[in-house]
Amino acid sequence: MSTHALHDMTVAELSTALAQKSVSAVEITQHLLTRAQADTSGSFLNLNAEAALAQARRADARRAAGQGGALEGVPLAHKDIFVTRDFPTTAGSKMLQGYRSPFDATVVRRLGVEGAQDDAQASGGAGMVCLGKLNCDEFAMGSGNENSAYGPVRNPWDATRVPGGSSGGSAAAIAARLVPAATGTDTGGSIRQPAGFCGITGIKPTYGRASRYGMIAYASSLDQAGPMARTAEDCALLLSAMCGPDPDRDSTSLDVPAEDFTRHLADPLEGLRIGIPAEFFGPGLADDVRAALETALSALEKLGAQRVPIHLPLTELAIPAYYIIAPAEASSNLSRFDGVKFGHRTPNPVDLLDMYKKSRAEGFGAEVKRRIMTGTYVLSHGYYDAYYLQAQKIRRKIADDFQNAFQQCDVIAGPVAPTVAWHLGQNASDPVADYLADIFTLPASLAGLPGLCTPAGFGAGGMPVGLQLIGNYFAEARLLNVAHRLQQVTDAHTRKPQGV
Ligand code: GLN
Repeated sequence: MSTHALHDMTVAELSTALAQKSVSAVEITQHLLTRAQADTSGSFLNLNAEAALAQARRADARRAAGQGGALEGVPLAHKDIFVTRDFPTTAGSKMLQGYRSPFDATVVRRLGVEGAQDDAQASGGAGMVCLGKLNCDEFAMGSGNENSAYGPVRNPWDATRVPGGSSGGSAAAIAARLVPAATGTDTGGSIRQPAGFCGITGIKPTYGRASRYGMIAYASSLDQAGPMARTAEDCALLLSAMCGPDPDRDSTSLDVPAEDFTRHLADPLEGLRIGIPAEFFGPGLADDVRAALETALSALEKLGAQRVPIHLPLTELAIPAYYIIAPAEASSNLSRFDGVKFGHRTPNPVDLLDMYKKSRAEGFGAEVKRRIMTGTYVLSHGYYDAYYLQAQKIRRKIADDFQNAFQQCDVIAGPVAPTVAWHLGQNASDPVADYLADIFTLPASLAGLPGLCTPAGFGAGGMPVGLQLIGNYFAEARLLNVAHRLQQVTDAHTRKPQGV
């Protein structure tokens, strides 16, 4: 097999090639490392060729010995919000510049190469080879990857546009064929929206299905890990390895066994009821996005699905509710970065208080500071009832609205964002513009529901448009099934940006 095509292969195709021994994990890894080293999009924050090749050799040895599953030896990269022992972890923040974790996040371990590290903690991995860490918004706060302390990521479809955020590095690296798959995290849309902006597939599972252990916390009641790749099938392969209980390390990890999410991929869609929320298709939705979604929805109808009009009446309130709850939790979570235990410490403090203040002032970027201030405010005495408590009530009502909707439909479909990817710097003076663009992803996040994004087509400027599918709790397999069937009859997910 010519190495030329290796970067165009999906996870499933690489898995087959590895099983047939037509290519080795070392060859694939070397090929992708060379591409990633030459990349100028800003997707990678670090690469570790030595560690990656060591993992690849181990995967090849396991394959040669007849061991390992489907993912053994297939490369990926992790969003830099997951802590890793083989690579530095920054969460896109100056606060954690040069930080090296003494342990791997559960998701990293579950996807990783068994025995790559000499302790019991490393056992049981799916055998994927990690190339390095991917850029993201600082502490996952953002919608365009412009809040990274290490610079923005450029969208491979148009280098003047954002890749989406906060998992922008993950989405851009996959679209640019630097890696076949990556991890992402989604607090309010950070897997689905960048997947949509870069024309790839991503799924956020039900809150609690994937362990948050070792995922640097932003808003703990919302944060959830998930896979990003070019196809639904690839996402299903990764998600199967990522999920499962982690009771000793994450108290919010659900006691639901891991499942094989590829099992239902090919199920027929006859009779599937797709809920179309009126609130997701209002005047705020750009015409080009609406048109691309229409094409995808018609394709699903041809496969036997039917559209059912539904309502999610509190959709608009998801924005204020989320932008109270998430900063509130962030202000608490980020209090650990005080210059004492780890992270940036100011060089010459005059006393302890000065050290706290300066370390935080120097370490955090503007958006993170804005969230900490908002969060501290809404949690403070006198404002807690007025803001935080109200937001929690809205959150509950949004979850109830979804349950009402699921009486009438099996999955819900809509856009991931009101427009295609915007231009770098476009919202620089108006952070609220970024917040407003989260309107279609926030409701499922607040409800803890699984959400998927699959390419729907292309809009203005030839930019990708994503179709969001939301399912009821634990309906990940159904979402992947719908996306897979759609991908079998459409080609948006196979298109590549020019020059890639
Ligand atoms: N854009 C949202 C925010 O800035 C969501 C980010 C995320 O999902 N991590 O909070």
